[in-house]
Amino acid sequence: MKNIDHWIGGKPVAGASDRFGPVHNPATGAQEKQVPFASVDEVDAAVASAKAAFESWGTASLAKRTSVLFKYRELLDAHRDEIAELITAEHGKVHSDALGEVARGMEIVELACSVPQLLKGELSTQVSTRVDVAAIRQPLGVVAGITPFNFPAMVPMWMFPLAIACGNTFVLKPSEKDPSASYRLAELASEAGLPDGVLNVVHGDKAAVDRLLEHPDITAVSFVGSTPIAKYIQIKGIEHGKRVQALGGAKNHMLVLPDADLDFAADQAISAAYGSAGERCMAVSVVVAVGGTGDELVEKIAERAKGLKIGPGSDPASEMGPLITREHRDKVASYVAGAAAQGAEVVVDGTGFTVPGHEDGFFLGVSLLDKVPLTADAYRDEIFGPVLCVVRAETYDEGIALINASRWGNGTAIFTRDGGAARRFQLEVQAGMVGVNVPIPVPVGYHSFGGWKDSLFGGHHIYGNDGVAFYTQGKVITTRWPDPADSGGINLGFPSH
Ligand code: NAD
Repeated sequence: MKNIDHWIGGKPVAGASDRFGPVHNPATGAQEKQVPFASVDEVDAAVASAKAAFESWGTASLAKRTSVLFKYRELLDAHRDEIAELITAEHGKVHSDALGEVARGMEIVELACSVPQLLKGELSTQVSTRVDVAAIRQPLGVVAGITPFNFPAMVPMWMFPLAIACGNTFVLKPSEKDPSASYRLAELASEAGLPDGVLNVVHGDKAAVDRLLEHPDITAVSFVGSTPIAKYIQIKGIEHGKRVQALGGAKNHMLVLPDADLDFAADQAISAAYGSAGERCMAVSVVVAVGGTGDELVEKIAERAKGLKIGPGSDPASEMGPLITREHRDKVASYVAGAAAQGAEVVVDGTGFTVPGHEDGFFLGVSLLDKVPLTADAYRDEIFGPVLCVVRAETYDEGIALINASRWGNGTAIFTRDGGAARRFQLEVQAGMVGVNVPIPVPVGYHSFGGWKDSLFGGHHIYGNDGVAFYTQGKVITTRWPDPADSGGINLGFPSH
């Protein structure tokens, strides 16, 4: 059994607590590794290392920081395949999908390479006689990131590259279910010349997270994960004086209008619902079929769903891999049976599915549920698996009202050929990321990612300009260089022009 190490102060550190978690290969069901759960002392050691590193990294020149980031980008490029293999081995997603995740994470490293541009301040000259005002942004200090299992490389890269580019030092607590990618990302950052202690990785569970939230030397916390934990992180972080951005779960709706190209919409629904076995916060989990499109659309989706190739992520023929754990697979399957009992039509039933030769793998077939009552658990909960619900709406207004009634507001999409309808949708829908004939509208690195309502707590979206704002604090400097001829004089009034 392989032990995974922490990465503290630029080197591997074996876990010293006696608590460990299992890391499985979801395609075989076998436990191949174990990950140590950090104690309070181990978290403190990582924070101390980050704090010491901030002394010099916080004032390192932009040229120094970007030279490391450019080198890091090249190393990530050279190691794409290897990182993707680590992801597939612990998460289960297919290799091509894992490569896509690495590429989307690298976008943020590329953005971070442009940090001199992003951190350019503002200057107003002569706001009053011989008075200038400059606005600059400075790093926060030691910041922490806590990440989910479903993007073990991309989500950490949503956080630390920009945080360190802005001059902070970082402690990452990755998901305990698939922690190796984060470790490798930190190792490569060291290889790129990142000074020891600037990026640390501590593994663990709630105990490690709680220590990060309470630690007096942590200034800010970025979190991505499920809604209940996001809420908890937000409240506890604020209680301890941290700046917090906490991205939560989702239930993303795709509205299909009667004028849409239904073959195109069916292709997109399949890709967005079942890619990565539905374990994406931007997965489409509900199709809202408007104005009588339902029967034809469901038929087209079902036809395609039955042809999907499900198998180990390492097999190039597989289009969808297993789920993350046996327990999660069984929970997802229970929603299909539950939906039938609660009035939905099970058009495609993926439960009880096995892959020959991989009977112990955490596989589940894809399921398609039609006419799902809005009261059914399958509609109300985030299932986070390969289960697509279809609901029917008579009109656009009924469809958008249904979407806006959701407690989540992460991503959403409209499929139509009508520009006017699409424009209305963009303005009226209550979600942070909107696709027009694009089912998974994950913003590119130089825009910010974030949802509304129960999909995000805290005022900042992640990466892009919001990321820079989150990882820096503003300072405004008002300067006067008096003319030697100025007499000055005393004035007790409030300064004005
Ligand atoms: P999770 O909330 O269970 O875990 C996320 C992180 O929190 C992990 O590092 C975990 O160790 C830690 N954690 C878990 N329970 C905790 C507790 N009680 N106290 C403190 N820390 C705790 O999420 P997950 O299952 O790893 O990931 C899937 C979820 O993440 C889904 O809900 C998905 O929608 C969401 N997600 C959201 C986004 C987004 O951008 N909004 C992106 C990816 C995933």
